[in-house]
Amino acid sequence: MEEGARSCLLQSRSSLEQDIRASYLMDHMISDGVLTGDEEDRIRSKPTRKEQAAALLELLLRKDNQAYISFYNALVRESYGDLASLLHNSLPLVSPEAEKSFSDGGTRYVQAVLSEGGVPQRPVVFVSRPALVNRVREKLYRLQEPGWVTVFGMAGSGKSVLAAEAARDHALITECFPGGVHWLSIGQLDRSDLLVRIQSLCFRLEQQSQEKDPSSSLHRPPGSLEEAKERLRFLMLRRYPRSLLILDDIWDSSVIKAFDIQCRVLFTTRDRSLADCVSGSKSEVAVESGLEEDQALEILALYVNGKPQRLPEQARSIVRECKGSPLVVSLIGALLREFPDRWAYYLHTLQQKKFKRIRKSSSYDYDALDQAMAASIQVLSEEHRELYIDLTVLEKDVKVPAKVLSVLWDLEPEEVEDVLQDFVNKSLLFRDCHHRPYLYYLHDLQLDFLAEMNRSGLEVGLIHSNQLRLQGPPTSGDEECLYWFRFLTYHMAKANLTQELCSLMFSLDWVRTKAQIMGPAHLINDYVEYGAILDKEVRGHFQEFLSLNGHQLEQRPFPDVVQLALSQPDSSEVYRQALLQAQERATRG
Ligand code: ADP
Repeated sequence: MEEGARSCLLQSRSSLEQDIRASYLMDHMISDGVLTGDEEDRIRSKPTRKEQAAALLELLLRKDNQAYISFYNALVRESYGDLASLLHNSLPLVSPEAEKSFSDGGTRYVQAVLSEGGVPQRPVVFVSRPALVNRVREKLYRLQEPGWVTVFGMAGSGKSVLAAEAARDHALITECFPGGVHWLSIGQLDRSDLLVRIQSLCFRLEQQSQEKDPSSSLHRPPGSLEEAKERLRFLMLRRYPRSLLILDDIWDSSVIKAFDIQCRVLFTTRDRSLADCVSGSKSEVAVESGLEEDQALEILALYVNGKPQRLPEQARSIVRECKGSPLVVSLIGALLREFPDRWAYYLHTLQQKKFKRIRKSSSYDYDALDQAMAASIQVLSEEHRELYIDLTVLEKDVKVPAKVLSVLWDLEPEEVEDVLQDFVNKSLLFRDCHHRPYLYYLHDLQLDFLAEMNRSGLEVGLIHSNQLRLQGPPTSGDEECLYWFRFLTYHMAKANLTQELCSLMFSLDWVRTKAQIMGPAHLINDYVEYGAILDKEVRGHFQEFLSLNGHQLEQRPFPDVVQLALSQPDSSEVYRQALLQAQERATRG
């Protein structure tokens, strides 16, 4: 193997060892003829995933250029796009697949800027839509002053992929947005969720700017939407001038107003009229709901490793039945990769109009998506199918780490990795590789499908919320912990665990811990959100306590909640619990 490639492998070794699953990659390498069955057996005999990964890398280092390329291609096919990109620059001979996935625009500088701003990577199987991308870039070039670019179109039409792609351009970034490109996923959310999203964006921006300039300080999270808006305005104006903010999937005019802070924004939406309620220059780009036929055929060809001209005759009809929807074509493509002789069968499946949507959107035809989802779920093993259906309990637009799923499914982390890989390979689930550990999410049309299909949703929710409760709060301050505190109440309410929900929310300990981790805004929102199912009087006690003391609960160091609660009226449940705890403290000395 040439020196550059070997050096790159050595440099990336620890990241690779941490994440890859050798058994998946070896299948591809054996079929490329760069690995023998004996070598595979030796690697498989190592007891843990990590040792297998280490052994594969050790062996690879002793092999030739061809093995490096085959390993690289296997990473791409198994959706380890981020790891493949570590190896890309040192590819000895550029393979066509590598060209396709990482060439144009993907300079190291661009990758670094986009990764820092949280801009999603290309899907592993990707086709370019040059006319559309150029239209968006042209609008971005004109964004010399603060203003808005609206990218609108139907769900699943590829708006998010397009927005990320438009930003993936060296000249555009250096000439127009030297302050960087910052991505925020929005989706359907209420005020308190929006606050949390903006808090996390501010935190990210402050943290990055502190890394560059250690004299700048980190602030406590903004406590209200108004404060968050001001903080973001300050950050964009002072620390990140001439940067681009990309807001993905906006539904509501109140959300767009929160970003009306005189900066440069591109947002994706299904609702073209949203920009009407903000000030500044505006332009828009419409995204057709389907890909051009050739592009859709190219996706199918990439999945089955063939050339578009050599696809069987059913391919065009499949594209027509999918109406070119990139999401649906990707689902079918992933199925055909696994079952290459089922072209006629999947065409027939798509033509059946089995599913009747209860709420049919006037602007989107879900038939093809439903058929494709059903077909993908059908080929899962029975065990995996049940696990996939469990994902109904996830909230829209929330990305979760594998650990949360390991709680949901009650499986060992290693098993969870296997399951997730299976779903990702079938385009049934998407992986955000910008985070370590990886985060996973469903497209919201997929969640809609699951919600409608899943007749036993209540039961799944019940099991999930019980598992979350039994497991108790995670001890680390990572994503899993945030998820637990953020969504426990939601899952309990969804599972109709009213009594348990009351005893949780009417506990001073819960208030203390959640306020400490997430701030008081979320807590207050929970009491409003679940108001109808909570006891009205006690709910009033807690709400009053929070509204009087919210500002204190934002302070760091965190105040003594028992002390604060003792100033509530004697008749308040909050006071009663505080008194008990104070007496306990006194007897303990
Ligand atoms: P939207 O934002 O309009 O809802 P997305 O951009 O999330 O749609 O795209 C939905 C899915 O369609 C993606 O997850 C991906 O699998 C597929 N897709 C979209 N655009 C492309 C593309 N240019 N090439 C390949 N697949 C694509």
